[in-house]
Amino acid sequence: MGKVHLVGAGPGDPELLTVRAARLLARASIVFHDSLVGRGILQLIGREAEAIDVGKRCGRKLLTQDEINSLLVSATAKHDVVIRLKGGDPLIFGRAGEEIEALRNAGVDFEVVPGITAALGAAAAAGISLTDRRAASQVVISTFSRGTEGAPMDFSAITSTTTLALYMPGPDYAEVAHRLLEGGLPDDLPCVIVSNATGAGQQIRWTSVAQLAHEEELPAPALMIVGRVASRKVQEISKAFWRGDPDGRSVSPSAVS
Ligand code: SAH
Repeated sequence: MGKVHLVGAGPGDPELLTVRAARLLARASIVFHDSLVGRGILQLIGREAEAIDVGKRCGRKLLTQDEINSLLVSATAKHDVVIRLKGGDPLIFGRAGEEIEALRNAGVDFEVVPGITAALGAAAAAGISLTDRRAASQVVISTFSRGTEGAPMDFSAITSTTTLALYMPGPDYAEVAHRLLEGGLPDDLPCVIVSNATGAGQQIRWTSVAQLAHEEELPAPALMIVGRVASRKVQEISKAFWRGDPDGRSVSPSAVS
């Protein structure tokens, strides 16, 4: 029986794959990949191998998660090296948990090959230190679109020294802004939108929570980095942007960009 490798494809640029991921892609005889994985990376799959897109397109699922789980298990009967290739890191918003459980239940051998998650690709692209010690002491990896069991995300736990990496912000930036403000984030808190981080067509927009509502939507995939670190002048604003701060003062958004 073969082994399933849950492999991270990184944020976009094929050069950001791990050496292990690249080697496995060349060796595998079957690869189940997400639609998000770019052509440059799919080209590293060996010529003889089968490459199957099991991802989602425009919200329409090509295959259900249960179907993908069964495919992975059954592929190991015929293939020694089975790859499940996901964008970024397989363990961040990648449904790897369900797949790992199915593989364990079926007694299938597996390994996880980590990848660079989109938030790290986006931070690198924008030149933002997510834990810049002058302004942040923690990073929260979160999503806008849905929480566990479909509950709306609660942003009230975000503190003045938290950097928020917001995956899947969706097309309605006004709604994102509204929900962040509702969670108590200051309206002049910096926010950076990064689209197609590290890939072709990468776009970076420096804005603020309040201005977000008026920003034009950037092409998917995109994510937002929200927090004091998401400014090009961290030094100047490290004490600002948070109403709760004793010496917090408001800085106009124009000072951010
Ligand atoms: N497992 C992936 C995340 C999958 S969820 C990872 O670790 O990165 C898909 C979301 O990731 C997208 O909606 C988007 O918010 C984000 N994303 C993925 N690739 C991206 C990229 N190159 N640039 C910006 N955001 C990206």
